Amino acid sequence: MASRPVSGAGDGLAVAIDLGGTQIRAALIDRRATILARAHQLTRADAGPEIVIGQIAELWATVCEGTNRSNILGIGVSSPGPLDTREGIALGIPTLAGFEDFPLKAALSEKLSMPVMLENDGISAGIGEWRYGAGKGLSDIVYVTVSTGIGGGVIIGNRVLRGRRGMAGHIGHMSFVRGGELCACGNRGCFEAYASATAFTRRAVNAATPLGNHGRAIDAAAVFASAAGGDALAISLVQEEAEYLGQGFASLLHLYDPDMLIMGGGLSNQFDMLQGAILSSLKASAMPAFRGTPVVRAILGANSGLIGAASLVLDGP
Ligand SMILES: [Zn+2]
Repeated sequence: MASRPVSGAGDGLAVAIDLGGTQIRAALIDRRATILARAHQLTRADAGPEIVIGQIAELWATVCEGTNRSNILGIGVSSPGPLDTREGIALGIPTLAGFEDFPLKAALSEKLSMPVMLENDGISAGIGEWRYGAGKGLSDIVYVTVSTGIGGGVIIGNRVLRGRRGMAGHIGHMSFVRGGELCACGNRGCFEAYASATAFTRRAVNAATPLGNHGRAIDAAAVFASAAGGDALAISLVQEEAEYLGQGFASLLHLYDPDMLIMGGGLSNQFDMLQGAILSSLKASAMPAFRGTPVVRAILGANSGLIGAASLVLDGP
């Protein structure tokens, strides 16, 4: 573990956990959203909740090592949904075996003897960007993460929009095309099934030309690199992706009238190449009064979920 600054007594620290289907990441975070220590493990996704909770406990111990435990106010957990965060129950996480109707919050607070804040991952990342990232100081933002899937979080009037069970903001599953592409959720035609990095890569593979990838599997980064190099097919694939994103973002502006729409997730690494076409598509789909809303890239990168989860402990829900 890397050395870390010694925190003063009574500062108040939080441990944040980003529970994912591939990796579990943990961080010790202070009130300025500084990450003081971090650790990760590959998720034993097929092993069941007891093993995964054991992994979280190990990571918790690693990031807290050498820190006065009385300074640690609690643990914030960002988890894939759907989660009933009002009751603290995982309702059925597709990427984690055995997390059906599982009392995740109670099991963790018992194991760690700590207060636990549980949040859907999209909302958690949205809170991070709102309080410490691109949306700092604004009262109304929509955060959209575009990665393997699409998720999000909505803050309106300085309040996190959670809905009846804490599941609001499942932006990826807005119905987009009637009877369209099959989505990971089991429905057809969701926004995610068209605009996620997975959908983008699928269209590139189906386009079935080499894209200058020298025999390597086609991934999103390879298509963007080919587009940057002037490949006409890659440029058209990037254009198409931006059009889907802009169309979905227009719906979000109509629904929420935010100060700003913030795009995060893996595909936001390519934001500079997407931005122009996203804005053109948005202009074509949004009513004139909504067209001036800024669309920006998230600035906390892969840490927005961790910082949001810590913020739930340090700043409140
Ligand atoms: Zn869906």
